[in-house]
Amino acid sequence: MDLTGKVALVTGSGRGIGREIAIRLAEAGASVVINDVGNPEPPNEVVAQIKQMGHPSMVAMGDVSQSVDVNRIVDTTVAAYGKLDILVNNAGITRDQLVLRMTDEDWDKVMAVDLKSVFVCSRAALRHMIRQRWGRIVSISSIVGIIGNVGQANYASAKAGIIGFTKATAKEVASRNVTVNAVAPGFIDTAMTQQLPEERRQEMAGKIPAGYLGTPRDVAEAVAFLASEEARYITGQVLTVDGGISLGKLM
Ligand code: NAD
Repeated sequence: MDLTGKVALVTGSGRGIGREIAIRLAEAGASVVINDVGNPEPPNEVVAQIKQMGHPSMVAMGDVSQSVDVNRIVDTTVAAYGKLDILVNNAGITRDQLVLRMTDEDWDKVMAVDLKSVFVCSRAALRHMIRQRWGRIVSISSIVGIIGNVGQANYASAKAGIIGFTKATAKEVASRNVTVNAVAPGFIDTAMTQQLPEERRQEMAGKIPAGYLGTPRDVAEAVAFLASEEARYITGQVLTVDGGISLGKLM
């Protein structure tokens, strides 16, 4: 997979899965824009690492649930590198609670960061991709959006929403050489899952047919493939990266 000359924007890439995706795309030759909110230190470190690999990289901080921020991030990217070829919608949060105890705020916040962001970022990126007749959008959904999970009705709804968005948008832009796909990770070893008690992590690992939690790299490899020229005829799809957990079991 050769991404030489391509320009990528990865949201929420200061750490975790997004960071690994950014590094993987740079390894394939892309110039990568690192986005995150809050502390600019981790994103700056990712940029330093990519530059050390010999590829252009820069930080564009901002909240991807806000169109004003997103338009600025995309404008900054195009001003710096002349175009935008690959958008990876990775930023996401959880606010877990049983439905009966879930507040409007828990619901709205997750919907804004995990789902609305995918719409506003894709809309801003597509303006450039359609004009240049080449583009790749890859959004990070979750197996929770496919099979559900107790305590995550807001997150499951947002991640399932990404899948609907992916399919509808894929149909709209396919004739312009722009593909729109989603990756649905299972349990991946990151800060998001490290918040869980060790006992719960062990329990989760026991339910995964592969027998272990995935790594950010496992997700990054799938994203790099979908972002490549080799994947040009794949659109509107959801690629599950979960060690087999969503296959379920007979008993
Ligand atoms: P993480 O919390 O380690 O990283 C998420 C990053 O997104 C953070 O750097 C955070 O600051 C950033 N972010 C949060 N809100 C933002 C906003 N409004 N604007 C810009 N950046 C923002 O999480 P992770 O485990 O690396 O997860 C990355 C993606 O993968 C998320 O969409 C998550 O839902 C999804 N996912 C994770 C797992 C898992 O097991 N870790 C499984 C399935 C899906």
